[in-house]
Amino acid sequence: MAFEKELQVAQLAVARASILTKAVFAEKAKGTISKEDKSPVTIGDYGAQALIICAIKHNFPQDEVVGEEEASSLREQKDLSSKIWNLVKDTKLSDSDSDAILGGPIRSEDEMLQAIDAGNSAGGSKGRIWALDPIDGTKGFLRGGQYAVCLALMVDGDVKVGVLGCPNLPVKDSEPLKEDMGIAATDAEGYGVLFSAVQGEGARSQPLTKGSVSQGHSISVSKVTDVTQAVMCESVEAGHSSKGDNAAIAEKLGVTGRPVQMDSQAKYGSVARGAGDIYLRLPVRKDYVEKIWDHAAGDLIVREAGGQVTDIHGQRLNFSLGRTLTENKGVVATPADIHAQVLAAVSEVLSAK
Ligand code: AMP
Ligand code: MG
Repeated sequence: MAFEKELQVAQLAVARASILTKAVFAEKAKGTISKEDKSPVTIGDYGAQALIICAIKHNFPQDEVVGEEEASSLREQKDLSSKIWNLVKDTKLSDSDSDAILGGPIRSEDEMLQAIDAGNSAGGSKGRIWALDPIDGTKGFLRGGQYAVCLALMVDGDVKVGVLGCPNLPVKDSEPLKEDMGIAATDAEGYGVLFSAVQGEGARSQPLTKGSVSQGHSISVSKVTDVTQAVMCESVEAGHSSKGDNAAIAEKLGVTGRPVQMDSQAKYGSVARGAGDIYLRLPVRKDYVEKIWDHAAGDLIVREAGGQVTDIHGQRLNFSLGRTLTENKGVVATPADIHAQVLAAVSEVLSAK
């Protein structure tokens, strides 16, 4: 199989980082600070980024990483840095062979900070570049909702491997989506799923464990024949996707059920396994440019599961242009069979505005 080693490292790295995020999720104090763009970041985001980048660099020293976080504020806030280090140094997979594949523990706080900063690649269309969102849906993570640990490998701007760790989604692919699903689910029986895909090899899911990873099983998007029965997924945060436009599109399609709101790329995972049918992300602001780490893994996993992912104009997401999706606006992810129909409704609603 192609990219076998990359897939294994990515899955194990996401599983190990999820142990740390779950520990932080369970704590009241999450060491939250506000970034320059006013969005929140927690000790969980930093710790997960450090663990994943160290695992990548141990196995593929030449590869670059586009990571959401950087460590400059941590170098100024020593107390925060040492809190993260206390978590990071003790986080390991329970299967020692698997942990050794990742290079074992990080050796020092300084190495941890350097790893966080190694997520500074400019991205682009050449070479091997990983896209990492250590905690996607940080607002959901803080609210006790859905979040995802997201990692993808791009080669020459094309996504080849995608992995999503979703600690608060049900293990069972067919479990109907509910808004309160997985709230405070960390370590509850039946929760925590690891999605993965390799280009050309399909998409798979398996329980997210603390030990090792397995082959998992193949997943596919739903077979919706009647779009009025489709389950739509959208963000919780009104500032991240236009709920008014989504509602107008649903009405145009005759969709009867209310949309399920959940944070993070858990939406992509849900569409890929057929628990949800349609993921719409309609722009709220004209000037917002989507980040590659918010979409790279989910895009591949949905497409490999038989779905189609485009922006609101029907263009494929273009990951080769740097850290952001400069040529795309919004996201429309659905089973391939209904994509044209959904996109037509999106166009009608947007052109009528
Ligand atoms: P979600 O969980 O679907 O709400 O998406 C979370 C992601 O939305 C975060 O990782 C941010 O990078 C991204 N984000 C922040 N501001 C915006 C915005 N104005 N429009 C779209 N996405 C945004
Ligand atoms: Mg994110």
